[in-house]
Amino acid sequence: MSVSAVVPAAVARPSRTLVCVPATARAPREMAAELGAAAALGADVAELRLDCLAGFAPRRDLPVLLAEPRPLPALVTYRPKWEGGEYEGEDEPRFEALLLAMELGAEYVDIELKVVDKFMKLVSGKKPENCKLIVSSHNFENTPSAEELGNLVAQIQATGADIVKIATTATEIVDVARMFQILVHCQEKQVPIIGLVMNDRGFISRILCPKYGGYLTFGSLEKGKKSAPAQPTAADLINLYNIRQIGPDTKVFGIIGKPVGHSKSPILHNEAFRSVGFNAVYVPFLVDDLVQFLSTYSSLDFAGFSCTIPHKEAAVRCCDEVDPIARDIGAVNTIVRRPDGKLVGYNTDYVGAISAIEDGIRASQPTDPTTSPLAGRLFVVIGAGGAGKALAYGAKEKGARVVIANRTFARAQELANLIAGPALTLAELENYHPEEGMILANTTAIGMHPNVNETPLSKQALKSYAVVFDAVYTPKETRLLREAAECGATVVSGLEMFIRQAMGQFEHFTGMPVDDDKFRGIANSLDNPDSMKPRL
Ligand code: NAP
Repeated sequence: MSVSAVVPAAVARPSRTLVCVPATARAPREMAAELGAAAALGADVAELRLDCLAGFAPRRDLPVLLAEPRPLPALVTYRPKWEGGEYEGEDEPRFEALLLAMELGAEYVDIELKVVDKFMKLVSGKKPENCKLIVSSHNFENTPSAEELGNLVAQIQATGADIVKIATTATEIVDVARMFQILVHCQEKQVPIIGLVMNDRGFISRILCPKYGGYLTFGSLEKGKKSAPAQPTAADLINLYNIRQIGPDTKVFGIIGKPVGHSKSPILHNEAFRSVGFNAVYVPFLVDDLVQFLSTYSSLDFAGFSCTIPHKEAAVRCCDEVDPIARDIGAVNTIVRRPDGKLVGYNTDYVGAISAIEDGIRASQPTDPTTSPLAGRLFVVIGAGGAGKALAYGAKEKGARVVIANRTFARAQELANLIAGPALTLAELENYHPEEGMILANTTAIGMHPNVNETPLSKQALKSYAVVFDAVYTPKETRLLREAAECGATVVSGLEMFIRQAMGQFEHFTGMPVDDDKFRGIANSLDNPDSMKPRL
């Protein structure tokens, strides 16, 4: 098999990828109930993990678990400890249980490659026609080369497997590209394969396998019930990632960051794509090395990226072309792949933040509609990172007199020099009050969930400001904004910046104008605590 370093183009698939929910209850009746719950979620298959049952007695329990009519087809797995399961006994009783499951009508039975020869001797012609045998191999350490994976597929096929299952472990997100290559290779050869990469860096394998023809992907019944590292919930697969709509032609977008699990962008963009019928999926990319990531996922299918901490500055160097303002700011938060494959970088943070502040001021006080309400105002930026630079450049563009305050004073000076303004230490900022009507923008993570009791500036000092903006958007109302409002300032939430920068990204990604009300409706529905929890 030829091995290339980049992810291959997807090919047309014969059938859709199934969503399988592992049932992992300790008691048979509870496990049987999990099948019903999985069916209610819209899953296609439920995996009965017999090794999770306490005191499992096959002849007593399997007829209960496999009683007809079943809410879903059953995949029966009895995983030994040595392959990542919980079963600690001998192989023979395990094999007998799997054989009984076949006889009782299980649609799929999973057996590990390491013992398949022994199992086949026992089965010898007794496997019912309608039962598919999955022969599985799990690698909890790494993801071998594409060539080794190809050899593994051939080895599994040679056992007489109906379906090949390979689960490996990602140490870097680029490992997943090799699994995609194998999926495509198998699809071309019409070999049904489940190919998944475990761990948070392998997360995209679970979402994108329908694009490359994976036979099945696993989704847990609920958060915390996952049967493998970084398994999404079935509800997220179906409702958030719209997995039923993912096919070979689906474009892939996503947020590149580290960490990235807290981001609400996948919820927002997937819903926005769906609302306009755009054939695309938006995933979290947990990336360590941006250059390596972009050179691996370099096909036109990977059509655009949002960039967040810590990759915004490196993204400037990785793009073939960079919008002049993004270049001045020194940070790219949006990358679009043009049809010729070239990457173009933009910064929608600055437009999002500045327009949010301008509109906040316009809504609260009479302003001259012909100029920016920032023109001539003293605009204090706390922070000198990516968001700080975006706010500082944006405010200067609008004619504000910009002051930078930062924990690391040298960074404050550096940014202040670039925008030809003064720099302050955070201590100096406490007593900084040269004039009335100042605007404050916090661009540090101070006050962000879970540190919601922290604030970058005392309430006393806040009394000097007429307008206060906080880039932090989890929670929507930070302590800084609450205290600023108590002091009588006009407050502008980071959620507004988040929504607006995402609208800008949506337009770059889809080439379609954004429907402001619809997008806002989606964004506002995100404002529940659950959607702030990490999803990886
Ligand atoms: P960044 O490049 O890492 O910069 C972080 C800045 O915060 C630096 O100036 C850093 O100071 C300062 N800082 C961090 N922890 C601090 C602390 N404990 N005390 C004082 N200063 C501290 O990050 P970024 O990309 O600019 O993002 C900053 C914040 O903006 C994050 O909370 C992010 O979620 C938010 N953000 C929001 C949006 C939105 O759409 N609402 C968009 C982008 C960013 P040093 O220089 O001393 O390290």
